Amino acid sequence: MNKQIQVLRLARYFIIYGYKHNLFLKKLIKEWDDPKDIITRCAQMQVNMNNNYMVAITVIVKMLTLHCKHPKKYRDKTSDGISYCMNCNSDL
Ligand SMILES: [Zn+2]
Repeated sequence: MNKQIQVLRLARYFIIYGYKHNLFLKKLIKEWDDPKDIITRCAQMQVNMNNNYMVAITVIVKMLTLHCKHPKKYRDKTSDGISYCMNCNSDL
């Protein structure tokens, strides 16, 4: 279960990184304001690529987190403060 938490943390980091990177690129694209410019096109390509990666990572995060369908009464916390399901032992 510890590895699952590490993967989720890494995935969240990449989603936040992609979002911040896109904000930066969109600001530059707006400043250049020239759709024919090669740098603007490269930046736009990078934004599209980041969006694709973020969608893929979001799907992975959902696959790792949404498999527990037990009611809330089965939830408990470990000594580290991480909540988990007592029925199927998955992290929440
Ligand atoms: Zn469960």
